[in-house]
Amino acid sequence: MHTLTVALGERSYPIYIGPGLLDSGLLKQHVRASQVLVVTNETVAPLYLQRVVDSLSGLRVDTLVLPDGEQHKTLDTLERIFDTLMAKRHSRTTTLIALGGGVVGDMVGFAAACYQRGVEFLQVPTTLLAQVDSSVGGKTAVNHPRGKNMIGAFHQPRAVLIDTDVLSTLPERELSAGLAEVIKYGLIRDREFFRWLQSNITALMARDPRALSKAILESCRNKADVVAEDETEQGNRALLNLGHTFGHAIETATGYRLWLHGEAVGAGMMMAAQMSEMLGWMPAEQLAPIRALLEQARLPLTPPGSMTAADFRSLMALDKKVLDGQLRLVLLQGIGAAVVTDQFDVQVLERLLEQSCQ
Ligand code: NAD
Ligand code: MG
Repeated sequence: MHTLTVALGERSYPIYIGPGLLDSGLLKQHVRASQVLVVTNETVAPLYLQRVVDSLSGLRVDTLVLPDGEQHKTLDTLERIFDTLMAKRHSRTTTLIALGGGVVGDMVGFAAACYQRGVEFLQVPTTLLAQVDSSVGGKTAVNHPRGKNMIGAFHQPRAVLIDTDVLSTLPERELSAGLAEVIKYGLIRDREFFRWLQSNITALMARDPRALSKAILESCRNKADVVAEDETEQGNRALLNLGHTFGHAIETATGYRLWLHGEAVGAGMMMAAQMSEMLGWMPAEQLAPIRALLEQARLPLTPPGSMTAADFRSLMALDKKVLDGQLRLVLLQGIGAAVVTDQFDVQVLERLLEQSCQ
């Protein structure tokens, strides 16, 4: 087992990574009082809920199984969590446990931030994306009909327990989507990790447990470092958005249904890399290895064929944001070095969009 710390002063917390951790007793060590509510969804519950409940024996354990899907990441579903907490008389010393992917984690974290003005919560992420990204860093939210993650709070968990064994049941597309965020860390700040990923991508795709553990460890280490430097995204935390501005345009254009977030980020990172090369900021010979790695992770390299440059322009509010000097993009100066900037030649962005949407 590996242990990392997210260093945030009195809000610091451990991340445990390893096989067989679900029922190792580690979770129980981080429960403050005697009462817990384990929240999961209908897909994850039959797979892992009982083991988690068994590992908490001796405590007063309540469970809540929510419907599965991003469309349920809403205030209405949040209400169900509060209803259960109230009905089962949970006090301010209760601990919420999020067992699931990023959807469950974001909702339970936000419920914990709100219930009685804030109670403790633990993250038990079960998708690769949640293990390397959403469970670490304290961003919690639900969606509003008019915008994703629009209602939320910063609320750090007390611990993150990553059982690498649970990835064995993950659908293939979800594995690839998680790998997009893994590759992102290499691209933005860790060239050595990028090289390691190049050598180990086949093992990762085959779900080799040692390779997955190492990829999760290095990803969490990178995310923890970025979060420790800039908890509330006043500065460098924005580097974590590499590929996300283009990706969000793709997700919006496809109605958040056809593409997974990580898939949109994959194509978005390729676009950001190409633009960085066109600006003369990134050496041309670095494009091919980025493309090859994303391809081996079975991620899309270009936006959907149905999208036009005009779609990107309007979805990124380009006309307005560029004129106001507010469109900030994460671009590369090379593999392992990224910048957040609005100081780029808009003509190059235009050319990128035209060439990406042929
Ligand atoms: P998800 O939570 O919808 O999980 C994907 C699918 O996998 C679901 O159907 C889920 O039930 C299923 N699943 C989960 N674990 C499984 C397992 N072990 N075996 C089989 N199936 C399993 O999606 P996600 O990609 O984990 O998370 C996406 C969400 O995370 C989005 O809402 C996004 O906004 C959020 N997010 C938050 C942050 C943050 O910093 N808070 C960062 C990135 C993403
Ligand atoms: Mg992301």
